[in-house]
Amino acid sequence: MIICSKCKAVVNDGACPICGRKKFVTEAKEDDLVLLTTADYVLSFLIEDVLNDAGIKFLKKGELGSAVTLYIGELTESFNFFVMANDYDEALAVLPNMELDEEAFDEI
Ligand SMILES: [Zn+2]
Repeated sequence: MIICSKCKAVVNDGACPICGRKKFVTEAKEDDLVLLTTADYVLSFLIEDVLNDAGIKFLKKGELGSAVTLYIGELTESFNFFVMANDYDEALAVLPNMELDEEAFDEI
């Protein structure tokens, strides 16, 4: 698996999808953390649930610092989820389909 060592994003087409650079692109080791997805506050709990159910270890990291979160409220926080490189495919497979889920919310 090819990742950007700076952003931890999976690289599919030569350049990092986040920073757009090739400088940090490298082959991931099995236990490297890679960026799985980014989710808002509500969706992050859903993702936590499915990853826990699947028994996949993950790291959830807020994009804003905690001081900022206290000030503007955690509903505006978005979270980056990281998993180990060798769990990535499995984690991707259990992730909820974001678009379908949004439609489901509309029906409620
Ligand atoms: Zn990058």
